[in-house]
Amino acid sequence: MFLIMKLDGHYILYAFIGIWLFISPMAFNTVWAKDFIVVIDAGHGGKDPGAVGKISKEKDINLKVALKLGDRIKKNCQDVKVVYTRDKDVFIPLDRRAQIANEAKADLFISIHTNSVASPKTVKGTSTWTLGLARSDANLAVAKRENSVIMYEGDYQTRYAGFNPDSSESYIIFEFIQDQYMSQSVRLASLVQQHFKGTCKRGDRGVHQAGFLVLKNTAMPGILVELGFISTPEEERYLNTEAGANNLANGIYCAFLNYKEEQQAQSASIISVFDEVKEQPKEQPKELPKEQLKEPLKPSTPVVATNEIIFKVQILTASSVLNKNDKRFKGLKDVDYYKDGKIYKYTYGASADYNEVLKTRRRLAGNFKGAFVVAFKNGKRIDTNKAIEEFKKKRNK
Ligand SMILES: [Zn+2]
Repeated sequence: MFLIMKLDGHYILYAFIGIWLFISPMAFNTVWAKDFIVVIDAGHGGKDPGAVGKISKEKDINLKVALKLGDRIKKNCQDVKVVYTRDKDVFIPLDRRAQIANEAKADLFISIHTNSVASPKTVKGTSTWTLGLARSDANLAVAKRENSVIMYEGDYQTRYAGFNPDSSESYIIFEFIQDQYMSQSVRLASLVQQHFKGTCKRGDRGVHQAGFLVLKNTAMPGILVELGFISTPEEERYLNTEAGANNLANGIYCAFLNYKEEQQAQSASIISVFDEVKEQPKEQPKELPKEQLKEPLKPSTPVVATNEIIFKVQILTASSVLNKNDKRFKGLKDVDYYKDGKIYKYTYGASADYNEVLKTRRRLAGNFKGAFVVAFKNGKRIDTNKAIEEFKKKRNK
């Protein structure tokens, strides 16, 4: 309904009939009517304190930030359902947390934790984790510490098929893991770190992978956030202030919003293929001169013999070449397109600088709600997440 309200005048009927005729009510439900469900998992609780600092316990910091994050989402996102694995100080077995998310048929799983190291007592900063094989001993140590909570469960050896959280050999199971949600999880993790660094002004220790049991058993994109180090007195004090908890909850919230917007933009571009089919016979506005109407757009200039990655903003899709003055461009000049199968995908702007294109996308977001960043190499569309990773690597050299 939201989508239809956004369209003007006689468009309403076309879009509606188009969608109605071309996809079944069930598919309609799947894409639009279904609420976005996010499970927020405050790590530890009850008899399991998590890491323990000088003045506080990890379980309490995690819960405070988790509830603040949930409050923000509930208050501002009418279409999102928030499910907590715990909203008070209780012990929840690790596999039960994943089960809660799976039973809720969640779209996203966010586990919130606080880091700790034996020494030095000066290490600071945030990090976000996705499921995978730890590439370093330090990364493995984080997974070991977080997984060791299963030892609070008396029957953990049978419950977790002989998994020993302390033994490096146990982690071999993560080596061959096929995670179909990997790219979405990594995308969200990157957004969380971007906001921790930019919006929250906290230390950025980056996005990492390791074998977290709680992420292994969730059937949806998921991340594990480490808010900071309880083992470092200065950071522990910060994490225990109201301002600190608010700031970090806000960072995750902003990343969540960005992520959800991107995901929905991708669904929206699938939908627009359907309503395009019905829309096409519509006449162009009569007041425009004929020669202008017949002037079709030129396809995007292919990038000649360079393997530089170019980012663009995709604004809409259509089943045919649109005219330069098509109403759907909302007055935007210099729109490009590329062809993907039978579909024409329209883009705006082009730069090797991802941040520039991101700015463009933000600028266009008012007129093109579903706009999102796409990437090209040698004139061909490539995976945007991989392109962003490459861009960052190059920039950090
Ligand atoms: Zn933890």
